[in-house]
Amino acid sequence: MSSTQLPWETPGDVPDWRAAGLRYRSVGFHLRRRFGGRVRRVSLDAGFTCPNVDGTVAVGGCVFCDNASYSPSRRVPRTTIAGQLETGIAKLRRRYPACDRFIAYFQPATNTYGPAEELRRIYAEAVSHPKVVAMAIGTRPDCVADDVLDVLQEFAGRTSLSVEFGLQTIHDRSLAWMNRGHTYDAFRDAVARARGRGFEITAHVILGLPGETWDDMMATALAIAESAVDGVKIHNLYAVKGTPLADQVAEGRVELMERDAYVHTLIDFLERIPPSMIVERVGGHAPPEYLVGPAWCLDANRLREEIQRAFLERNTWQGRRFV
Ligand code: SF4
Repeated sequence: MSSTQLPWETPGDVPDWRAAGLRYRSVGFHLRRRFGGRVRRVSLDAGFTCPNVDGTVAVGGCVFCDNASYSPSRRVPRTTIAGQLETGIAKLRRRYPACDRFIAYFQPATNTYGPAEELRRIYAEAVSHPKVVAMAIGTRPDCVADDVLDVLQEFAGRTSLSVEFGLQTIHDRSLAWMNRGHTYDAFRDAVARARGRGFEITAHVILGLPGETWDDMMATALAIAESAVDGVKIHNLYAVKGTPLADQVAEGRVELMERDAYVHTLIDFLERIPPSMIVERVGGHAPPEYLVGPAWCLDANRLREEIQRAFLERNTWQGRRFV
């Protein structure tokens, strides 16, 4: 048996990412396999808002949300999609001169929150750029009516498309705390209707929500595993300035996870999802001028090192406890 092989696996079963020496199926590995080299994401802001910001389902948005803190495209004046692609690609090419293919990533707010015709026009502008080889769209599970899914399916036929549903947790009491404005059932319904339409589905999850125990977080992992989505994006709860969460942290009403606890909970989570699932992200980061805490979020390299070290010490992998 090779050192990367689990007891029940035959050599042919060992996932390619494990054979390559990885402990989880990172999105970087997945994209290199799919495109035969590096591709990078360009964050795009199409000017959407959210139904829990504009009063449709709630007001004020999620307690932790400041779109500018996690979307570079919302920190600058908004231009056309084509203009944002030109600027974003030029910036990335100064840093990574060899990179010549890009993912148009509709990142801030709810990027399917509009009439189908308008969505079609916006997405078409992105995929018609000659250097765009894929598109990623972040949205909420309660904002994908069937006519919107039809548009997404159309674009899945034109490019490699990944659609990210913000789930955060399967526990409705936590969703209510964060003022999410939808329940876990909305996610289940969206995934059921979106599956089989030719695009990848990713679930966004937050670990360390107030009141959630280790068992609660593992219940979310098991539900994600059973949902058969294609990918998962995981990070810890972190607070940025000017949000209700920042106030709750300052008042001592919410405690944010320490790095060590997060690393081990993350690995416990990854052990329970299938080896085939793409892991889009394993940590939360915000620019220093936005971040309230935890401070360890500022050191992404150290977090990666700690995750790798813990995987080695525990001698474990993504999917090890997946049955
Ligand atoms: S749904 Fe997303 S963009 Fe909208 S308020 Fe919540 S976190 Fe922010």
